[in-house]
Amino acid sequence: MSYVDEVIESVIAKNPAEPEFHQAVKEVLESLRPVIDANEEKYRKVALLERLVEPERQIKFRVPWVDDKGQVQVNTGYRVQFNSAIGPYKGGLRLHPSVNLGIIKVLGFEQIFKNSLTGLPIGGGKGGSDFDPKGKSDREVMAFCQSFMTELCKYIGADTDVPAGDIGTGAREIGYMFGQYKRIRGLYEGVLTGKGLSYGGSLARTEATGYGLLYLTKELLKVNGIDIAGKTACVSGSGNVAIYAIEKATQLGVKVLTCSDSNGWVYDPDGIDVAALKEIKEVNRARLTEYKKYRPNSEYHEGRGVWVVKADLALPCATQNELLLDDAKALVENGCIAVCEGANMPTTLEATKYLQEHNVIFAPGKAANAGGVATSALEMSQNSERLSWSFEEVDAKLQTIMINITHNIVDSAERYGHAGDYVMGANIAGFEKVADAMIAQGVC
Ligand code: NDP
Repeated sequence: MSYVDEVIESVIAKNPAEPEFHQAVKEVLESLRPVIDANEEKYRKVALLERLVEPERQIKFRVPWVDDKGQVQVNTGYRVQFNSAIGPYKGGLRLHPSVNLGIIKVLGFEQIFKNSLTGLPIGGGKGGSDFDPKGKSDREVMAFCQSFMTELCKYIGADTDVPAGDIGTGAREIGYMFGQYKRIRGLYEGVLTGKGLSYGGSLARTEATGYGLLYLTKELLKVNGIDIAGKTACVSGSGNVAIYAIEKATQLGVKVLTCSDSNGWVYDPDGIDVAALKEIKEVNRARLTEYKKYRPNSEYHEGRGVWVVKADLALPCATQNELLLDDAKALVENGCIAVCEGANMPTTLEATKYLQEHNVIFAPGKAANAGGVATSALEMSQNSERLSWSFEEVDAKLQTIMINITHNIVDSAERYGHAGDYVMGANIAGFEKVADAMIAQGVC
């Protein structure tokens, strides 16, 4: 049996109750097969894969808090410190009722490779709780965050583990957690990222994921001999990633024809008006039905449908599993040249396969949306220096990082005889750096 198959089998046997984790390990190891087969003896000797799939540490803890009626509530908190071979653990805190240990392990495992791809010194981790901030008062959210951090603060620190926001953990939650950490540990340090600008946050973090997506898309097209200027694009979503992807695309001379939310989608033949979109979504917190008031020439459609519009580029920036096989077929039919993922896992496996088989350039989110975590790492650097960089400085560094990621995934795929397979390129590039560091650091 091959080394990859042996390790997949042992992961299933050792973690029987975590099917999502089996799936994630399987997907990553399968795509690493060329590199692992080529180095099998070396990796086997040091049990590299067995160590890679076993978190360095996983912490599970009780989070009691008092609700507005005076009733004590109890949630479960998690932090999985997966791999610190290349830097302190880094990864978000997810607050959502669906959170359990298996999910956090999946996200932590994926984070190792994504963080490595940025080229910055950050290891992989993830955490969260089954607490649902939706429908809770500010006081209840604060009570939860303070209790959560009272336990978590024993295990994290600016040089050991630096959590960030994720689903359910926005600026408000990060603020409450940071305050509690400071209060208990007596340390004013960059222990969390995604902080407000008044207490150590980074300029350009808001724009980073969307801008980064376009920097990578532009470079990847260039590598393939295509100029991004003058192209058309379909974008899905109208949240943080989508808005800044549309803004940067427009600045680069791309006409963005669509955007969407969970109710419907907009087609604007003159190109999406970013200022109008920001006013609707960031200021008024309204639905996309409002867009027509700003742009009478546009159309609003209920339901999903973004991918049927004819465009050169497709940038899924909304949510997971939003680009299905039929959508991929429509894109190919319409002559789409490239699909670059702004969201996490928006394209299903079968849709990805179809696009790749039909020679559509496909950039996986792991690489294409890494601008977010990269800029969080830049927030850590600024906090360590006790300095704040200008927007232009952060943006310039982000551009360099995304260009480096692009070449790294292109070269890695080529080196193992799979030129143009950027999913494989991203996994290999992320893995190689971590593997080298683990081997160099001996048995630990
Ligand atoms: P937001 O919550 O700001 O925006 C999400 C957008 O997607 C909203 O417009 C939302 O519409 C829409 N949406 C949600 N569900 C659906 C659905 N089922 N069908 C159509 N549209 C839907 O999130 P972000 O922009 O921050 O994140 C988007 C994606 O990017 C996520 O996958 C996230 O994990 C990923 N990501 C984000 C990073 C970041 O820095 N923000 C970094 C890396 C990845 P509605 O308003 O109606 O809910």
